[in-house]
Amino acid sequence: MRSRFIMASFQLIDIGANLTDSMYKGLYNGKKYHEEDLNDVLSRAKENGVNRSIITVGHLEDVNPALDLCKSTTNLFCTVGCHPTRCNEFKENPDDYYKQLLDIALNNQDKVVAIGECGLDYDREHFCSRETQKLFFEKQFDLAIETNLPMFFHMRNASQDFIDILKKYRDRIVGGVAHCFTGSVEEARALTDMGLYVGITGCSLKTLDNIEAVKTIPAEFLLVETDAPWCEIKNTHAGFKFIKTKFPTKKKERWEKGYCVKSRNEPCHLIQIIEILAAVRGEDPRELADNVFRNTEKLFFSKV
Ligand SMILES: [Zn+2]
Repeated sequence: MRSRFIMASFQLIDIGANLTDSMYKGLYNGKKYHEEDLNDVLSRAKENGVNRSIITVGHLEDVNPALDLCKSTTNLFCTVGCHPTRCNEFKENPDDYYKQLLDIALNNQDKVVAIGECGLDYDREHFCSRETQKLFFEKQFDLAIETNLPMFFHMRNASQDFIDILKKYRDRIVGGVAHCFTGSVEEARALTDMGLYVGITGCSLKTLDNIEAVKTIPAEFLLVETDAPWCEIKNTHAGFKFIKTKFPTKKKERWEKGYCVKSRNEPCHLIQIIEILAAVRGEDPRELADNVFRNTEKLFFSKV
């Protein structure tokens, strides 16, 4: 492990962390393995240069726990919106659902920094049909326009429909990020041509093709995120060999204070994304981190 001093010299913002996930309460698939350790997770993040995180919200039910957490500390923020796999909930009572999202965003302007996660996920149509996904994806552009907030996009296996819808609204929204990008060189290009940012997670650095696509993204459009507790960088990932900062871990069955949990991602790992990105792009890690930091401030924190 490198010294904490060196790691903390980076200034990082995790733009996508699911910090309300039950794994941070010690619950995995409903089974309790260890005590709640979110405070340890947040301290580790801070010690490793992550001085802000944006909690991703996927539906109305997530909003209050996320906001409560945000209000408990100065360095947490959140999104407000409906994930494509949750759009059947939006469909039940669209006007009311919309109004609730809007009110929450407008009444918590110091904490809500984006509309999302919203978008299209054609890999998981068993949760919600394409038609419903498209309808309520479009509806959330109205939300972004009304609140003047940037958007946090989720896109899986739906690039053409996603890009067509975006083109329709692009001029009316302040901006957005396609989070957890796993697309091709052409898809990255289509996004950045529209002036959208691209969010890089461990999943974005999994294969050599992923890495080729990530290398082509202009520096002014790069953002980084963990998507924790998901998307950790495994030793089978193409990017793994470029990691310099490692963290001591224990299995969840053997949880111990001061250790990360094996296979559970957390914001302190964000430094590893920077290390891989810098190596594959041939850039200086500090310059890259500074650049990403500025991009993040510009998209999400210019109003806060
Ligand atoms: Zn997502």
